[in-house]
Amino acid sequence: MRAIFLDKDGTLVENVPYNVNPALIRLSWNAGPALQIFKSLGYKLIVVSNQSGIAKGLFTENALQPVEHRLAERLVQYGVTLDGFYYCPHSPDGVIGRYAISCTCRKPMPGMLLRAAKEHGIDLSQSWMIGDILHDVEAGRRAGCRTVLIDNGNETEWKLSPLRTPDAKAADLHEAARFIAAADAAPFDRDMPRDSLGGAAP
Ligand SMILES: [Mg+2]
Ligand SMILES: [Zn+2]
Repeated sequence: MRAIFLDKDGTLVENVPYNVNPALIRLSWNAGPALQIFKSLGYKLIVVSNQSGIAKGLFTENALQPVEHRLAERLVQYGVTLDGFYYCPHSPDGVIGRYAISCTCRKPMPGMLLRAAKEHGIDLSQSWMIGDILHDVEAGRRAGCRTVLIDNGNETEWKLSPLRTPDAKAADLHEAARFIAAADAAPFDRDMPRDSLGGAAP
């Protein structure tokens, strides 16, 4: 099994900071058709989302269930279902004791991807992480995945390092899907250095 790991805010849905109001959940541009492509290629779709608002006392873990439900509803018209929804409730800056820790699941750490791989039988080396900031890229690389950065302006610091260099940059999820479909269709690329897959290395 292989998977597309998807960041939620700013990648799969429009970015509304710390939002848990289901009414404000809107798929990002071209997300539905992009997910259809991933499904047609045989990938599982797994959301991996930092939700430090829980540690910060802005909302509770229970508030995420309606969010996940609304997300699923938004995808019905595309005939797409998500295979997993993982979140990290922690933050070292948190105020709620049990969540106010440095954990191994908050991106850029890879804990959510590693756990999902175990629970879903996913081959991480055949999987991709897609997100809109370099912490997503780093989490993906730490897990052993290839990565695509959605270059939509949400990354502002650009602290680059080898672990934070994506295989490709894409304007939106649909462009990312087309890139991954092309990489799948060119199996010989797998033997080449990963940076040669895309033209996006800075
Ligand atoms: Mg994001
Ligand atoms: Zn965590």
